[in-house]
Amino acid sequence: MIYWDKEKECMPREELEKLQLRRLKETVFRVYAFVPAYKHKMDQAGVKPHDINCLEDIKYLPFTTKQDLRDNYPFNLFAVPMSEVVRIQSSSGTTGKPTVGGYTKRDINEVWAEVMARSLVCAGASRNSVVHVSYGYGLFTGGLGAHYGAEKIGASVIPASGGNTKRQIMLMQDYGSTHLACTPSYSLFMYEVAQEMGIKPSDLKLRAGIFGAEPCSENMRRDIENKWKIDAFDIYGLTEIIGPGVAIECACKNGMHLAEDHFIAETIDPLSLEVLEPGNQGELVITTITKEAMPLIRYRTRDLTTLEKDRCECGRTHMRMQKVLGRSDDMIIIRGVNVFPSMVESVLLNIPGVEPHYLLIVDRRGTLDELEVQVEVSERLFSDEVKKLEGLGALIRKELESALGIAVKVRLVEPRSIERSEGKAKRVIDKRKF
Ligand code: ADP
Ligand code: ZN
Repeated sequence: MIYWDKEKECMPREELEKLQLRRLKETVFRVYAFVPAYKHKMDQAGVKPHDINCLEDIKYLPFTTKQDLRDNYPFNLFAVPMSEVVRIQSSSGTTGKPTVGGYTKRDINEVWAEVMARSLVCAGASRNSVVHVSYGYGLFTGGLGAHYGAEKIGASVIPASGGNTKRQIMLMQDYGSTHLACTPSYSLFMYEVAQEMGIKPSDLKLRAGIFGAEPCSENMRRDIENKWKIDAFDIYGLTEIIGPGVAIECACKNGMHLAEDHFIAETIDPLSLEVLEPGNQGELVITTITKEAMPLIRYRTRDLTTLEKDRCECGRTHMRMQKVLGRSDDMIIIRGVNVFPSMVESVLLNIPGVEPHYLLIVDRRGTLDELEVQVEVSERLFSDEVKKLEGLGALIRKELESALGIAVKVRLVEPRSIERSEGKAKRVIDKRKF
């Protein structure tokens, strides 16, 4: 097994937890001293930095929410003067002001590039690899995050960014890319374009993909792996915490190892806010313990996942988070039933003839909510007789209804008619809000 930093990644848990406690204490002292918003929140909760004496004491610290980030927009959660800040990134901010991430030189080199280097090596990359980065470069953390990590391990980086897909395929072929970093949905779009260009996976040197930034069901992963004939690794991260690299899958593919020497993870019940035992699904809460510019204490990510602490075959001791079901914001409630697009995806991709492109359309007819699932079918099936298509539509409806527990309308649509994405795929159109 090859690791980027074996000492840290395979650290005995007892030692790891000691390191976490030391770093947590330092962070708490720092934010209390330098970030008025944290001092205020801690004072209100009646907790002082010296009250944190063991890892469990983290529960006394108040949560940080997206609203706190908005209230302190843009830079009021920074714990260092602006002269120390060397980079600002931000998220797309589809719902109001964007979320800001600030970095010191050390945050970039010793934390972000470090966890990304670790992630890439975990996915089998090395200094001999050619890493093709198709995450967007710019304010979005995907591109630059993967870039710095790949440079750190000494790989040859192709900073392709998103878009101009035909050219990307040409470059991958000409430059012999071995690793592709992008969203899972974009990797599928790239595959279609490669097919149109008459380029087969065997014409490329691609061996693995580092796919993240959006949920990807196990079935979707399998589909990508079968099509591209590569190994697909799930990678997780968010701008607020650092960007990609917070957690990465290892070859065992039984969850993503969380970089626990940099981040402390908890899961909570999003309603009662009670901390859950590992093994129970809940909202992921992360505390950064090495970041200088913008440390976050118990940040509620709104992502739903399950933490696992048991030993992993790969030798890494850091706990794993299971594939993210989705953000609580992506959850749609239809007649009282919670539906995540990834649940629909899992069902669809189990049915032969169905393409991994779908869209959920929610509408309200009178007082009743309706869910329509638009699904692309393969070229071959679409040109087949109507009866066969009808049969497929009925089968999809039956499977979805039994998995979701609600009535679903299924519309089979022409191949390539659902909009492709170069970044995060849009899976839901909720007409009820308009
Ligand atoms: P935004 O999407 O809000 O513009 P980010 O680029 O910071 O901002 O996205 C972070 C979010 O993307 C995470 O909170 C999570 O919801 C989603 N995400 C990132 N990686 C994954 C992954 N591997 N699986 C599922 N969701 C992911
Ligand atoms: Zn592992």
